[in-house]
Amino acid sequence: MSSSQIRFNSVRARISDTAQSLGNSHEPLLLAVSKTRSAQEIRNLFDLGQRDFGENYVQEALEKIEALTDLNICWHFIGPLQSNKSRLVAENFAWVHSVDSLKIAQRLSKQRPEGLPKLQICVQVNIDEEPSKSGVNPGDIEELVKQIAVLPNLNLRGLMCIPKKQHAADKTLASFGRLRQLRDSLNTKANLALDTLSMGMSADLELAMQEQATIVRIGTALFGPRK
Ligand SMILES: *Cc1c(COP(=O)(O)O)cnc(C)c1O
Repeated sequence: MSSSQIRFNSVRARISDTAQSLGNSHEPLLLAVSKTRSAQEIRNLFDLGQRDFGENYVQEALEKIEALTDLNICWHFIGPLQSNKSRLVAENFAWVHSVDSLKIAQRLSKQRPEGLPKLQICVQVNIDEEPSKSGVNPGDIEELVKQIAVLPNLNLRGLMCIPKKQHAADKTLASFGRLRQLRDSLNTKANLALDTLSMGMSADLELAMQEQATIVRIGTALFGPRK
């Protein structure tokens, strides 16, 4: 078995074992985070059955998207998004997990090409309220999602977070729990039907699943250490 096959199987097993121990019949979507990886590495993982890939940098992503047009990949943008790059993202991705302002959301909606399905959107939340970290502070989220929810070419699906680094496991779990509660309370207060929690990476996907992650974003555990 190739090392990529072994890593892929092992991540799939972590997800299915966790789902089983939680009594969940439904598993989260596995998003393979392919930043810094080559088009060939993505192709290898596709051949093993992986369909969703996440990229952080627009220019790097476009080269790979271009090289892999023969594959039926669902591309997710998960990195910091500047307004001068929003058009390229609106034209080339199916999902954006890292929306953190109304301005970006409005541009994505306006720039989404006609004939493509709505762009699937998560708002990134700065769940631990770290200074100078991307994402919206929890206190500002309600106003923002109400305004994003009515944009015509976007489908607001839920929330994304990256908890503080080097948190102890119980603190990370609490951060994931706060994202879930925030999603639930927005559904009630703003009368929405947000169904997505994009949370959990290589080191903590099990914790995120305990708090009902619906998308886990996995890089290192699938591709090996980044150089
Ligand atoms: C790099 C990255 C990941 C994957 O991280 P790993 O620890 O390699 O699994 C997930 N989400 C975002 C936003 C990232 O930038």
